[in-house]
Amino acid sequence: MSMTLFDSPSFANHEGVHAVFDEKTGLRAIIAVHSTARGPAVGGTRMWNYASSAEALEDVLRLSKGMSYKNAVADLEMGGGKSVIIGDSRTQKTPELFAAFGRAVSTLGGIYYAAEDVGVSVADIAEARKVTPYVLGLSDGPEASGDPSPVTAEGVFRSTLTVARRLWKQDDLTGLTIALQGIGHVGGYLADKLHAAGAKLVMTDVNTALLAEVAARTNAEIVAPDAIYDVKADIYAPCALGATLNPQTLDRISAKAVVGAANNQLATPEVGRILFERGVLYAPDYVVNGGGIINVASELNARNTGGAYDAAWVEGKLSRLMETLDEVLERSASEGRPTHEIADAIAEARINAARAEKAEQLKAA
Ligand code: NAD
Repeated sequence: MSMTLFDSPSFANHEGVHAVFDEKTGLRAIIAVHSTARGPAVGGTRMWNYASSAEALEDVLRLSKGMSYKNAVADLEMGGGKSVIIGDSRTQKTPELFAAFGRAVSTLGGIYYAAEDVGVSVADIAEARKVTPYVLGLSDGPEASGDPSPVTAEGVFRSTLTVARRLWKQDDLTGLTIALQGIGHVGGYLADKLHAAGAKLVMTDVNTALLAEVAARTNAEIVAPDAIYDVKADIYAPCALGATLNPQTLDRISAKAVVGAANNQLATPEVGRILFERGVLYAPDYVVNGGGIINVASELNARNTGGAYDAAWVEGKLSRLMETLDEVLERSASEGRPTHEIADAIAEARINAARAEKAEQLKAA
């Protein structure tokens, strides 16, 4: 596969794409800054054994744009960025590697803040923090926002309630069956909340020991990983992998709604359109799962003001995001357009407004 940057299908007017290499540690990373119109670009660092640098580039271009949208829809004063480290997170991680990565982030002077993502832990980010202030998602100190998963789960839970109110006119989840895929950090907290609200859970995970434990405490039925798509459920809650809504699974999923934590649930935008045409309510992933980044944003605020992590501020932003979800669902119904298109339009309007404002300031200066 040959590919260059500007003609990649995933290039979306990114402001900057930085490839970094460190000879001593072998660090090979790409930092993509999609937009700083609304503030410094914030988005996690993924460590993955990409087959080629073209594959890594594709991923970072796509993910950084996604962060611009997620941050804008959550109304955070942050732009979108993401970084990828090419390598095997099980065998190639060292403190020196993350120090080298931290130095690379520092060279950008604060237009990009890194945080943990797939393959990167809080401990890795703490190594980078020793050499750069431009990382977030720490676990120690007054600014630290800690584990975002409980806040993400709370947002997914409230989104589920919003959908239940709309589709079944009920204020709790009594009598509803939810097919939960993945009971890890977010899915585990979510399972407890859904169970407490009266839902009947059918769940799966590849971690069978964890699955047995969570199922026991939430009275859930267990199914094999691939069988989750065939469960006769009211709601499908993907909380493991991306792209599980695809041409292969579409005809198997019978749920009337999809509400889950996973990123990039739609394999393609076309799949979102098909769901809409079939009358399946898809609650857009990056609206539903924005609780985690809101939690991280509080750490950035604290950093900028010399203050502390602020749970009340996080709650305010989360409830506002849930109102935005309701607006997305309302507009989808009244305008006859798929929910993911409405969410994208809201995010794009906010990003474009900030861009226009910046351009005005440049002109005035
Ligand atoms: P996690 O790794 O803790 O949990 C994922 C779970 O999915 C694990 O228990 C894993 O065993 C399971 N899994 C993996 N492959 C599976 C398969 N084929 N079938 C069934 N289960 C499988 O991750 P997490 O932090 O809980 O995040 C879950 C999803 O939500 C991810 O897509 C993540 O990107 C997204 N997300 C997480 C946060 C957050 O705050 N942690 C925020 C936004 C989005």
